[in-house]
Amino acid sequence: MTDIRIGQGYDVHAFGEGDHVVLGGVRIAHERGVLAHSDGDVVIHALCDALLGALALGDIGVHFPPSDPRWKDCDSRHFLRQCRALLAERGWRAGNVDVTVVCERPKVAAHAPAMRANLAEDLGIDVDAVSVKATTSEKLGFTGRGEGLAAMAVALVVRA
Ligand code: MG
Repeated sequence: MTDIRIGQGYDVHAFGEGDHVVLGGVRIAHERGVLAHSDGDVVIHALCDALLGALALGDIGVHFPPSDPRWKDCDSRHFLRQCRALLAERGWRAGNVDVTVVCERPKVAAHAPAMRANLAEDLGIDVDAVSVKATTSEKLGFTGRGEGLAAMAVALVVRA
């Protein structure tokens, strides 16, 4: 058996009515919100899919279906801690993770340290093992037009 596994995740939410977005568990003031059943945290949703993908456990929609009223307006950090538990039950934990946020606005780089601290806490790993980066898409595509925001994540999973 191998001692490392790798997974990737991707998530998108469209902008809608609201005055803030939540990214990596950090509330960031913005003139739009996101359309979502939960808090619409694309950073955590992409990261959960990466962690689940590493162990071929399906995806966030399987474990936390939007049809379930329990997840209405849910703090996505709950999902991340649940993913950590799903890994732990099988004898695994996150090794290091790397997330890229794609949007023109809001500017997220200044919030990256707080996001990294949240993700590290929820995964029970050192903050040095958690990377959060941000990029624009040079005004191209749906992120470039400001229609929504996206995040991509990769996660290494190791034996606990
Ligand atoms: Mg999502």
